[in-house]
Amino acid sequence: MSDTVASDARLFPSPDFPAVPVAGEKAAYPVHRIFCVGRNYAEHAREMGVEVDREAPFYFTKSPLAIVQSGAAVPYPPGTENYHYEMELVIAIGAPAWKVPPEAAGAAVFGYAAGLDMTRRDLQLAARARQRPWDLGKDFEQSAVMAPITRAAEFAVGTQRISLAVNGTVKQDARLSDLVWSVEELVSHLSHFYHLAPGDLIFTGTPAGVGPVVAGDVIHGEIEGLAPVALRVEPAE
Ligand code: MN
Repeated sequence: MSDTVASDARLFPSPDFPAVPVAGEKAAYPVHRIFCVGRNYAEHAREMGVEVDREAPFYFTKSPLAIVQSGAAVPYPPGTENYHYEMELVIAIGAPAWKVPPEAAGAAVFGYAAGLDMTRRDLQLAARARQRPWDLGKDFEQSAVMAPITRAAEFAVGTQRISLAVNGTVKQDARLSDLVWSVEELVSHLSHFYHLAPGDLIFTGTPAGVGPVVAGDVIHGEIEGLAPVALRVEPAE
């Protein structure tokens, strides 16, 4: 974006931005930034001991290098004893959006995917209690799990079921119509703080029913009409 240093002037190679497959297509979607919405389902806010803020959504971010593809096996992460799944609808931005009203926000959406906002819950809650940033709890290696993206022309957000099972037992079960802040409202709101652009993902928040996983667990998440997302948890490194 603003980096004009030639690659032969760098001390070591830059990592490539990760890319996410697009369902049924050869070319993948390169990810530049990851925004995540907090408390966007009232029932989940309640289970976390807080209420939804109806004045404005709030966000945290993850490094794009935290992306891991659906179907991966990841080691139980370091520094936590309470590693949680969060099943989410993910918006993929496909056109520039800067200070757009909600009515115009839909045009900036490339597509949608099922994703997992994996969380070190103990570290997140400890940070929250001390009014510190959530980074250790949220932005860690392999914490953003992405299923293939479906183009917006093939998926309209409505009352689809969003659900997640661990080892075959359903843990989260809600509807996309339970979202407090809609896709259009989120894209519009964020576009007043960032120049949204192709490559930006927005994790839209998780329904109630979050919980821990341990080594050996298999997570399977579904949103009706989208490719499912899966993750296997391996022993810690
Ligand atoms: Mn989340």
